[in-house]
Amino acid sequence: MESLFRLESEYARVSNDPHFQKEYGEYLRCFVGRPTPLQFARRLSQRYGCRVYLKREDLCHTGAHKINNCIGQALLARKMGKKRIIAETGAGQHGVAVASACAALGLRCQVYMGMTDFHRQSSNRMRMEILGAEVIKVDEGAGTLKEAVNAAVRDWVTHVEDSYYLLGSVVGPHPYPLIVRDFQSVIGSEVKRQVYEAEGMLPDMLLACIGGGSNAMGLFFPFLKEERVNLVGIEAGGRGGNNGQHAATLAMGRPGVLHGAFSYLLQDDEGQVLPSHSISAGLDYPGVGPELSFLKDSGRLKITAVRDDEVLRSFFELSRKEGIIPALESAHALTYLRNPVFGLPKDGIVVINLSGRGDKDLDIIAWEEEKRGQTK
Ligand SMILES: *Cc1c(COP(=O)(O)O)cnc(C)c1O
Repeated sequence: MESLFRLESEYARVSNDPHFQKEYGEYLRCFVGRPTPLQFARRLSQRYGCRVYLKREDLCHTGAHKINNCIGQALLARKMGKKRIIAETGAGQHGVAVASACAALGLRCQVYMGMTDFHRQSSNRMRMEILGAEVIKVDEGAGTLKEAVNAAVRDWVTHVEDSYYLLGSVVGPHPYPLIVRDFQSVIGSEVKRQVYEAEGMLPDMLLACIGGGSNAMGLFFPFLKEERVNLVGIEAGGRGGNNGQHAATLAMGRPGVLHGAFSYLLQDDEGQVLPSHSISAGLDYPGVGPELSFLKDSGRLKITAVRDDEVLRSFFELSRKEGIIPALESAHALTYLRNPVFGLPKDGIVVINLSGRGDKDLDIIAWEEEKRGQTK
């Protein structure tokens, strides 16, 4: 708790410092490549009868929105006088973003990775090492994200004097969900301005996929008080049904505690955390952010889940209709267009957060294509 109290007070101080905000803004512009475009998707719009816009987070440096948060927290760590950054990674996307930010700021970087991920995600492991990070294999349990988080937290609480723990989504104990949300809110702030420039009004609906929930919170947060803007979060329904082969935490989970936060959780009757499944590594997590859990309960946020096979169709649809290969995570948000369980605003404005690019997913696509024996 002591480490968290210190982080909370330091963050409150630094986030109000105009020098810090200026420096963060400069890195967002020159290193990350912001503002990212808000693109009118002409062919999707024709097909679905509304004005579809894509927020192009896939064009960020390192290929997804994660870097917005990493560069922010790395700057915070440097301001706090920390010399070493600790992080966890599952598929390696967060690890690569952390390693890039640390290299740019001259911070030492150590990334924990479960042994299973360590072996199956060797290209991201290599990226991290090229960027100067040290990747540490965690030999416990299933050797995936949960064990990596445990190892990173254990390291942090014993080296809190000189080390900073850089968490990758709006999860974990306070103040992390708040810090990550603040840094990712640049997405929604830009969208608000960009939609207004393009259309002269607020959007009718915002769509984002939810893993831990950082790209969704980042898009939604600046619109929370705009009651007429509908917010829809799309989770990983995995193989479909309620048989445990999914990562639809908000749609199908129950409240509980994981990694220091009270939120919806995939758990069994005894409260043991259940393993999740998704075709996209970035959504394959049994927890979800506490603030998103609150927004679901309050009714402000609507939640739906889509299946892996539907997501694959959206992946190809965006590639072939708009010339953009999306991350499989982002393809979940796109799937809402074909499966609009809460409706679509006819001729209205729909903004979809294209959280990342799909180059990282080509092995999975090849594997799925082979399995299904189809070429669609
Ligand atoms: C990691 C990742 C996600 C899921 O994380 P959130 O915290 O829910 O945003 C979504 N999209 C992409 C491209 C990712 O890399």
